[in-house]
Amino acid sequence: MNIAYKNIIWDWNGTLLDDAFACIYAMNILLREHGLPEMDEKRYMQVFGFPVKDYYELLGFDFSEVVWDDLANHFISIYKDKTLEADLHSGTVETFEFINDSNVDMHILSASESQMLDDMIKKHKLDGLVKSVTGLDNIYASSKIDVGKSMLESLGCDPSLCLMVGDTIHDVEVAEALGIDCVLVEGGYQSRERLSSTGKPVFKNIKEVLTYISQ
Ligand SMILES: [Mg+2]
Repeated sequence: MNIAYKNIIWDWNGTLLDDAFACIYAMNILLREHGLPEMDEKRYMQVFGFPVKDYYELLGFDFSEVVWDDLANHFISIYKDKTLEADLHSGTVETFEFINDSNVDMHILSASESQMLDDMIKKHKLDGLVKSVTGLDNIYASSKIDVGKSMLESLGCDPSLCLMVGDTIHDVEVAEALGIDCVLVEGGYQSRERLSSTGKPVFKNIKEVLTYISQ
């Protein structure tokens, strides 16, 4: 079985790590503390987006009254504890082992802060299966485009042989900025309807992605 790409670039949160519940849990604490309406999973998938600061505003936070840096730090402190309960999405390790055996390099590109990202990837034992891990140098989850461009340059590979796999519209924006293909997986941070609006293939799970890229 051959894989149609030489490099596969995976998003982390929501795509590999099944951690939307930890984000909803942490955000609901912030919302309660500020007297704002809490959200359920359905609402989360309808409103979450990048840059994350815009998503906070959609939820009702008013940055003329609250300090963005305080909110972001508070969110991360709660999320970090809660996400210890998160598992990888079903089939992740098997898919990674299979792709690794197929002479395809895998990378993780995330809007998470780099140290936290490295710790989580080690905890879930994927560090030995990926060639590189790229995160942000801050907790503000603004965009992955700049770090993605640097990452692609350092790989020095033909963009037509790179594939991005993600769970949000932002992953499509990053892939388009990098000039590479993109497919999406549902069950992460955004609804299937929103993912489908990008026109990119949307799969139910990671194993379906493997079937799609295998020839
Ligand atoms: Mg994601």
